[in-house]
Amino acid sequence: MKFAPRLLAATALALGATPALAETSYVTAGRMLDVESGRYVQNPLITIIDGKIAAVESGGTAPAGANVRDLAGMTILPGLIDMHVHLDGRPEYGGYSGLQFTDRFWTVLGVVNAGKMLKAGFTSVRNLGADDYNVVGIDQAIEEGWLQGPRIVNAAHALGATGGHCDSTFLPPSFDSKSPAVGDGPAELRKRVREQRKYGAEVIKACATGGVFSRNTAPGVQQLTLEELTAIAEEAHFWGLKAAAHAHGAAGIKAAIRAGFDTIEHASYIDDEGIALARQRGTFLSMDVFNTEYTLSKGAENGVLEENLAKERALSQVQRDNFRKAHKAGAKMVFGSDAGVMPHEDVGGQFRVMVEYGMTPIEAIRAATINAADALGQSGEVGILKAGAWADLIALNGDPLADVGELADVDFVMKGGVAVD
Ligand SMILES: [Zn+2]
Repeated sequence: MKFAPRLLAATALALGATPALAETSYVTAGRMLDVESGRYVQNPLITIIDGKIAAVESGGTAPAGANVRDLAGMTILPGLIDMHVHLDGRPEYGGYSGLQFTDRFWTVLGVVNAGKMLKAGFTSVRNLGADDYNVVGIDQAIEEGWLQGPRIVNAAHALGATGGHCDSTFLPPSFDSKSPAVGDGPAELRKRVREQRKYGAEVIKACATGGVFSRNTAPGVQQLTLEELTAIAEEAHFWGLKAAAHAHGAAGIKAAIRAGFDTIEHASYIDDEGIALARQRGTFLSMDVFNTEYTLSKGAENGVLEENLAKERALSQVQRDNFRKAHKAGAKMVFGSDAGVMPHEDVGGQFRVMVEYGMTPIEAIRAATINAADALGQSGEVGILKAGAWADLIALNGDPLADVGELADVDFVMKGGVAVD
């Protein structure tokens, strides 16, 4: 890699980046949304040193001749965080249609999707399941400056039971196709956690129930025992990682919460006892209440099988109603889109649905900023515009507290103090 520094410098220039060392720059704007208080700060002046926020003031002016990005008339807020994405997937290839491509096709699409998510305002994402350690490589390439993309907290392969939702379920036995992260029994699954961490996982994902887009699995049915789930969560925590459970059915959700998982993904059929448990344990719910609109309108033409569409039809309204119920009951909620199941560039549309189903705009924004940062274990680093945090921010021409739909069309993005083209 002796050629890397020269190419890196060239790449940085091509991306419009400022030189990296001890560089001070400033951002000014019409107003800034303080996501903690929910109030606007007028005429903010943000001082950025080496990609991090050094100070946030109201009404100050940058020194003469300084490097200033003036977002006059715009509203700035922290860069958004999506807690559930699949960068190496695209919804255009449903059912068996993905088999026409070679394995590396998906790695390349992951690079493209990373750029799309960043431009949509998502400066951090949590990747919950990818094939072939695709996203480990993409994450490394972004960190090294070879391409623009969000900060990634990566799960690598999702763990699951043999024949369960996170196994390979589309091929007959003669293809001998199985996920490398499948395990049966606590001991095997502990080993799968260690293997995923060894090769780059920064969070552990496990499939506690069946799911919508696999074959021969039912979303409502639990697929890992309490003992297995406990082994996975314990082992993840033992290595200092958080654990995320894919769980649609009520029993699987409760088992995953009792096992100690930090976030519950989908949570479609969560019942009152599950909501109470989540509140009691401080477990975050990550409910993907938007992608159903895409799946039900485009799924069939994308090749999604009728058995998968039928599962989606059965659960999507129930999930939205339970989102309202869980939020009203005071459960902790984060923004999770399941991008990959729908186009990555469009997931900002989910804010509108979160508000339609009971959140105020600032609550929906907190789900994708301070609450998500908390669930990642990155409070004070991302999801907030404050001294010490990364200078990750977005700017809008409109007022997101009056119309949260503005977040579906972000007008400016900065990550680590560098403007995204
Ligand atoms: Zn997913």
